[in-house]
Amino acid sequence: MRFDIITIFPRIFDSYFSESILARAQAKNLIDINVHDLRDYAEGAHRQVDDRPFGGGPGMVLKIEPIFKAVTALKKPKTKNQKPKLRTKNRKIRVILLSAKGKTFTQNDAKRLSKYKQIVFICGRYEGVDERVAKYIADEEISIGDYVLTGGELPAMIVIDSISRHIPNVIGKSESLTEESFTIYNKDSKIRYTEYPHYTRPEIFSPSGKIRWRAPKVLLSGNHAKIQEWRLKNAKIKKLTK
Ligand code: SAM
Repeated sequence: MRFDIITIFPRIFDSYFSESILARAQAKNLIDINVHDLRDYAEGAHRQVDDRPFGGGPGMVLKIEPIFKAVTALKKPKTKNQKPKLRTKNRKIRVILLSAKGKTFTQNDAKRLSKYKQIVFICGRYEGVDERVAKYIADEEISIGDYVLTGGELPAMIVIDSISRHIPNVIGKSESLTEESFTIYNKDSKIRYTEYPHYTRPEIFSPSGKIRWRAPKVLLSGNHAKIQEWRLKNAKIKKLTK
């Protein structure tokens, strides 16, 4: 799967994507992450990517032209006869605008988006992005929560991280995916839950003489039926908006 990120701060991504599971997934060619500087698609000596908002108001707005050029270039058709299309019904490519007013990202979206071959992310900055990008260029607008960040880079990293976990062989043990939080536990009632709590050694942790913080005994009992029962009891049901 290929991820393309359009940003005015490309270096932000260096450290996160070069560590741990996502670094290994790239090394194994399971995912391919490409970061593109929006300025490379801007015209003129100053390679201007932003401008003042029509109607006045504070801040700057990212311009549509360089974003259009970047997305068109990244969705380049494979053969000469194909015309480049924006907002195609192409099931293999998805263009996502990160935006506080977008649809809130969920585990279901991570799973759904992991089926695409390529996803292009547009990271906003400053006051945001010319609305015509949402209207004519992006296939969907995604928010990572009801709060405002300084840019779309962290949301892009979060969404890519979460999607990548659903790509075969990115996570070591596939059962990690079926047992974890927000996965359907009861298919009939569609109840979702957050995973049961985990403990590891020591069995008793004593931060001071009198205090003893103990891990639940049942988890050390070796009785798998009882452990499973305890885990089901302690998995919290979470009401999701969808
Ligand atoms: N003026 C915008 C508003 O009030 O919604 C906020 C713009 S924000 C400072 C700059 C950029 O950060 C946005 O264009 C978007 O790309 C990104 N961003 C901020 N909060 C976000 C969120 N919760 N989810 C996704 N992207 C977000």
